[in-house]
Amino acid sequence: MGGGREVLGALSAPPALRICHLYPDLLNLYGDRGNIMVLVQRARWRGLPVTVTEVGLGEAVAPDAGDLFFIGGGEDRQQRIASDDLCRIKRAALEEAMRDGGVMLAVCGGYQLAGRYYRPAEGEDLQGLGLLDLWTEHPGPTTRRLIGNLVIEVEGMDDPLIGFENHGGRTHLGPGARPLGRVLTGFGNNGEDGWEGAVSRRVYGTYLHGPFLPKNPAFADRLIREALERRHPGVVLSPLPDAQAARARAVMLARLGQRAAG
Ligand code: GLN
Repeated sequence: MGGGREVLGALSAPPALRICHLYPDLLNLYGDRGNIMVLVQRARWRGLPVTVTEVGLGEAVAPDAGDLFFIGGGEDRQQRIASDDLCRIKRAALEEAMRDGGVMLAVCGGYQLAGRYYRPAEGEDLQGLGLLDLWTEHPGPTTRRLIGNLVIEVEGMDDPLIGFENHGGRTHLGPGARPLGRVLTGFGNNGEDGWEGAVSRRVYGTYLHGPFLPKNPAFADRLIREALERRHPGVVLSPLPDAQAARARAVMLARLGQRAAG
């Protein structure tokens, strides 16, 4: 009959981190894939099972394909291809995953596509997923790109986030999204209002490239914890020794005239 319920297994198994990497080949500017490597390794160091599901062009994504969805950066040409695919065959599932407590990290070109629309340097607007209440417009091919090191202060985090930005698009937030952080060094969303990135529910968008999670282990852990909480509320992550990352961060912050906390 198969009517039994697995009780012991469910209680004793460590929670698994399920990552879904969208467009790993198409959107992987500046080694965004490195963010996935950091998430995987930090889970493994804690003895947590990890799965990474890659979903590319033309492939459907299940709302349950992951608890942490990642989408990286790309140039306008790649973004146009991704925009069409996202809106045609992935949007409904991703909306459902986010409603259900899923986490998303969207970087640069992916960040722009998580918003309502992206107006590229040339050509028609690209539709976004609308998971973040924001829009992005590129003023044109002759306008200065926003390039350089980027340091932001994030509410609720002791230390700033460090990364690199390179985008032509200027992003503006609507009332339904709040900024991820305040710019300490660099340009951020548009180089004018002092804000960087966006958050809504557990959807995070940012211009921090790099990849940026190797430089910001505390933020990587925040994403891992929130992803695990979807199926394991109250989960606690054991701390990891991050002395090397802390030294690298201190050097970078000093070079940029910023100071690490503590
Ligand atoms: N094409 C977008 C822009 O220039 C995004 C670039 C990127 O992902 N680095 O704004």
